Amino acid sequence: MPSCLSVPPAALPAHVQQQIQAGLDRRSRGYRGRFAPSPTGSLHRGNLRTALLSWLEARLAGGTWLLRLDDLDTPRNRAGAEEEILHDLRWLGLHWDGPLWRQSERRGLYGTVLSALRRDGRLYPCRCSRRLLADVSAPHGGWAVYPGFCRTVAPRWGPEQGRLPSWRLRLPPGRIRWREHGRLGLHAAPGDLDAASAVGDVVLRRADGFLAYHLATAVDELTLGISAVVRGADLWRSTAAQVAVMAQLGADPPVYAHGPLWCDPASGQRLSKREGAEGLAGLRQRGLDAAGVIGLLAASVDLVPPGSRLSAPELLQELRSRPAA
Ligand code: GLU
Repeated sequence: MPSCLSVPPAALPAHVQQQIQAGLDRRSRGYRGRFAPSPTGSLHRGNLRTALLSWLEARLAGGTWLLRLDDLDTPRNRAGAEEEILHDLRWLGLHWDGPLWRQSERRGLYGTVLSALRRDGRLYPCRCSRRLLADVSAPHGGWAVYPGFCRTVAPRWGPEQGRLPSWRLRLPPGRIRWREHGRLGLHAAPGDLDAASAVGDVVLRRADGFLAYHLATAVDELTLGISAVVRGADLWRSTAAQVAVMAQLGADPPVYAHGPLWCDPASGQRLSKREGAEGLAGLRQRGLDAAGVIGLLAASVDLVPPGSRLSAPELLQELRSRPAA
């Protein structure tokens, strides 16, 4: 059973409603996947594996694979990372369809959706500081559930002591649900979370003025017509926030497949761009070519035996010849 859908906000302009409808029509016509890295550093093995799996799922389904850069959080973007990501994907033979999408070029669209939700009374300003929230939020699998302090107080919009409020989505009570399915068998548990106790009112515009990743991503999955999202399991709970935004726009979410994270065998910690986990440059320096890297990535999820060497199209061909999982 899907999550409860709301009617789209009355203030949503017709051209945005049309973009959403066009996206929904497109996704109903066939598989449309996407890979959506943030240009905050080099793609590490875990990111590259996600890219490969997402590409394979799309190609196995005879569908389309889009590339979108989640580059809204500009202070975290790293100079040169975008070029490196594009180069790495091409080097591995993971070619995307159509133009490169950048969230930073779609701020107007997200801002319009945000205003419509706000005008419809679906958001409220929040003055809670990060420090307060760190002390009081109930952590839920690494996710801090906002306890709703500012939900019921009279809204204070303007700057106070030089700070603007953040804007939170007032989540309707009930369950937030989504489906998990991937042909490669990597999907996680289907989503079924209680909005109030396990998700909490999510921030859609941050106090520093930045539009939040959940807002942009939800709007993008709908307007770009994404039918299936393959990504790392670290984003499993974030999915609830994005599904909740889509429900506010009157739309069901895509299908998800959250794959396992790649952990460093020495520390047991998951690889992180910020901590400079080894990217393709390091693998190349160790003498691996593209076929060696594809083999390494595919073997890590048991798609091929360890030590395999094959190109991305060869791997696709090999998987096509196997019965669907
Ligand atoms: N850009 C985010 C990341 O790289 C999110 C990706 C996604 O939604 O697939 O972690």
